[in-house]
Amino acid sequence: MAKVLIIGAGGVGNVVAHKCAMVPEVFEEITLASRTVSKCEAIAAEVKKRTGRDIATHQVDADNVPELVALINNVKPDLVINVALPYQDLPIMDACLETKVHYLDTANYEPKDEAKFEYSWQWAYQDKFKEAGITAILGCGFDPGVTGVYTSYAAKHHFDEIHYLDIVDCNAGDHGKAFATNFNPEINIREITQKGKYWEDGKWVEIDAMSIHKPIDYPNIGERESYLLYHEELESLVKNYPTIKRARFWMTFGQEYIKHLTVLQNVGMTSIEPIKFQGQDIVPLEFLKALLPEPSSLGENYVGETSIGCQIKGIKDGKEKTYYVWNNCKHQHAWDEVGGQGVAYTTGVPAMLGAKMFLEGKWDNGAGVFNVEQFNPDPFMEEIGKYGLPWEETENVEFPHEY
Ligand code: NDP
Repeated sequence: MAKVLIIGAGGVGNVVAHKCAMVPEVFEEITLASRTVSKCEAIAAEVKKRTGRDIATHQVDADNVPELVALINNVKPDLVINVALPYQDLPIMDACLETKVHYLDTANYEPKDEAKFEYSWQWAYQDKFKEAGITAILGCGFDPGVTGVYTSYAAKHHFDEIHYLDIVDCNAGDHGKAFATNFNPEINIREITQKGKYWEDGKWVEIDAMSIHKPIDYPNIGERESYLLYHEELESLVKNYPTIKRARFWMTFGQEYIKHLTVLQNVGMTSIEPIKFQGQDIVPLEFLKALLPEPSSLGENYVGETSIGCQIKGIKDGKEKTYYVWNNCKHQHAWDEVGGQGVAYTTGVPAMLGAKMFLEGKWDNGAGVFNVEQFNPDPFMEEIGKYGLPWEETENVEFPHEY
């Protein structure tokens, strides 16, 4: 029985709060804190309606370490689940260090003034977490998160050496809006408009944003044009699986989405450089975020499904083999169960389950900072289907559109 403090009351925070409330045998007390307390209260009211459970709410500025420390000392959680924005990762880790409380997040730290996705800042906390005797679990959403668990499961049960890894992420949903992002627009657009990057033969290869694409066939969906992006789990996976010769990440985008994004980029609306407007400094991308629909509001009319998985090639018992493991998730299922949409759901369920694994002692690597693939994948794979994200696998399939 444990106490958790969830920080961040957006689309993902909503799913984590609901899913924790649905597992009372582990999450005995739940507190939800965020910058705008009314959003926490709205989620708490929904959770009460759906599960009958009370969750406590608090206001906190998670950029402010003393405020976080005061909140943690007040709540006294066993674990902090950080589902605020990547900018808050380091202040929340600092507060966890000061209070000696374990930490879990779903996205790597990113400085606000630079779209740079790297684990280096968080990995630098390794010694401090060890000394404090606490654990940090990094990147426990879907991608990063489940994709790391899929890879470690494949490495444990299906391969002696993994050589090629392609993470394939399709959202074949339709929310009926001309342009909207499925998670925080600022973070999402920063991720997509930066240069693409993949790992090949021991080094990173950089490409112009969205310049490599091809159709990929997704289970139950069919072919969708998929674009090579840099995604943060590639960094930890090539480090933890040094036999990998090439690792890439592919994501689908519809033509409408790309058309809007291109125009917005061409006119400077996706820039993170502040500009003076009527005597005031504004960041164009922050202004754009204010205009776009909240990702958490997309759920009600969202139809279709997501499909995310790992396509792996390597060697088992001296022979080449291929392996594909994936999950498909229907947006409507997320709406019906927790009043959310599929992308928030596929992030929030693994965050809850990673927390559960840790609190039950099934993920126990001792003190330090770990990416999800460093934990035992088996108990996680055993349970994730039960909590809404069942997986499927096939072996020795040809991956069409060979690379
Ligand atoms: P939202 O923008 O919907 O929610 C973010 C929440 O964090 C909001 O409630 C926001 O408050 C709060 N917040 C922002 N700044 C602060 C602050 N300084 N102090 C306290 N609270 C703050 O984002 P999502 O729910 O879509 O995403 C949450 C996280 O999940 C992000 O880090 C995102 O990158 C990650 N993610 C990970 C995925 C994965 O598969 N691994 C996939 C999708 C998302 P306010 O309401 O006041 O703005």
